[in-house]
Amino acid sequence: MLHIHCPYCNETLPEAEFAHAGEAHVARPETPSEVSDEAWRDFLFIRENVRGLTYERWRHIHGCGRFFNAVRHTVTDRFLTTYKAGEPRPDLDKLQEADQ
Ligand SMILES: [Zn+2]
Repeated sequence: MLHIHCPYCNETLPEAEFAHAGEAHVARPETPSEVSDEAWRDFLFIRENVRGLTYERWRHIHGCGRFFNAVRHTVTDRFLTTYKAGEPRPDLDKLQEADQ
């Protein structure tokens, strides 16, 4: 079982406490009515789906209920860090160096 750190509760808990909420840092167009159908489709449905480190949103559904972001390796399921929503995304190269 995975253990995930909630940056708001400052606790590391079993994954059953959390829900995956998709890719993090997906920017909503500022004027949705002015974007093309293809750009709107890309915003709604097209994701990176990388093999390796990725930015994700998670929600602490059985705790504080808040959304936060995480950096997880999609092959090993290892979480390198979690951080509060609105905080800048951490540099992946620095995280990998610190993890080795
Ligand atoms: Zn929490």
